[in-house]
Amino acid sequence: MSQREEREWVSRIKERLAKKQGVARKNDAYLKERSEVLNKKYFNGKLTVRSIVYADNQSKRHGSCNTLTGNIRVSRRLAAMPEWVLDYVIVHELAHLVHGDHSLDFWSLVNQYKLAERARGFLIAKDLEEAHV
Ligand SMILES: [Zn+2]
Repeated sequence: MSQREEREWVSRIKERLAKKQGVARKNDAYLKERSEVLNKKYFNGKLTVRSIVYADNQSKRHGSCNTLTGNIRVSRRLAAMPEWVLDYVIVHELAHLVHGDHSLDFWSLVNQYKLAERARGFLIAKDLEEAHV
């Protein structure tokens, strides 16, 4: 192996590791941290999230929110997706603590998140992709 090849190899391994760690970093504690940041940013920190955790049994849905208990569940599939998509799903579920439905008031809350439209498109494309597997 030449020095140049070795350097390329090392940088490729490093990249792969960073990617892996990126996914591992997205555990339940990460969800809690993001929900606190997004609660502050979009809801003046007024929401009470009792728990927010990854769920393994939600392959069809991206997330769910029990508006009575304040428990939020996020599909574990989201952990492998870009952070701005995961943020969108968290904002969506947080907004359900204000509006339990998908009313216009609900969407105007969600759409404060600037990448909401893009994230919805991303998720639709992902779902279509996985439907073919
Ligand atoms: Zn919803």
